[in-house]
Amino acid sequence: MSLVEIKGLAIRFGSLHNPIHAVRHVDLSIERGTIHGLIGESGCGKTISGMALLGLLPQSARVSADAFRFDGLNLLDVAKSLRGRRIAMISQDPAAALNPVLRIGRQMDDVLKSHSGLPRFQRRAVAEELLAATGLADPRRVLKSYPHQLSGGMQQRVVIAQALATGADFIIADEPTTALDVTVGTQVLALLKRLVQERALTVLMITHDMDVVAECCDSATVLYAGHTVEAGCTDELLAAPRHPYTQALLAALPDAVAKGERLASIEGHIPSPFAVIEGCPFAPRCASAMAVCRQAKPPERDDGNHCWTCHLEPHHG
Ligand code: SF4
Repeated sequence: MSLVEIKGLAIRFGSLHNPIHAVRHVDLSIERGTIHGLIGESGCGKTISGMALLGLLPQSARVSADAFRFDGLNLLDVAKSLRGRRIAMISQDPAAALNPVLRIGRQMDDVLKSHSGLPRFQRRAVAEELLAATGLADPRRVLKSYPHQLSGGMQQRVVIAQALATGADFIIADEPTTALDVTVGTQVLALLKRLVQERALTVLMITHDMDVVAECCDSATVLYAGHTVEAGCTDELLAAPRHPYTQALLAALPDAVAKGERLASIEGHIPSPFAVIEGCPFAPRCASAMAVCRQAKPPERDDGNHCWTCHLEPHHG
């Protein structure tokens, strides 16, 4: 059984007559002990789907799903109670995640105090161990520091150590390298990969960057305008994308230019969250669109390695 199993997730705001569709139909399946990428342009619904997993949606959100499960539990009922116990979050801005006026030692201790039940002297040792596990060379010095005395990369490692301190086995990492320079970002991704292996964690990596998926994700789901359009193992997705949107995303990578290929930009815009979408959400931008694409929802297709939604008949061989 997958750790996370989501089918047909829809999240809307506003009134019944004037709905704002933040998420329209997201399917997401995450295997235990893996890093799963959730990729798409901004506004595609990836961050809000992560917030739903954490039980962090505002009261005004209307959520429905055919299945919305974590480890067999219905997240519509238990997401809030799992947050900080089994599910933790790493955000893109580590400075904002840390309290600027408290030393790291105090902040680590607060997390351990409310999650571990350990006495104070043991909490100190565990805090040092967790900071060391994230690759911080001098945990004692870090514990005595205020956040502003640490670099962005060190702050992100502290945030990761805090996530570990909760005892969570599922971590949602929302663009965790966006605020970091490329080298430090690569180190943070390598750290997450190592922790997944060493501590039997599962990570949902929310990103707009295909390079991040290529670098550290075992599998990924591609979102477009609040819909899952393709999902599968990373190698398959990168080598043989089936959905025209995934193909366009990959063609737009600078790497394609480095290989002498023309940089393709995707013409047009993502549909507005107010729009009523009858057929395929990508139809207005899709170079392969047919009449049926504007009228009917595309069928789900599956070749055994990955699945996608499109009216185009898959070609074999
Ligand atoms: Fe393009 Fe039609 Fe496939 Fe949508 S269903 S991606 S418009 S070919």
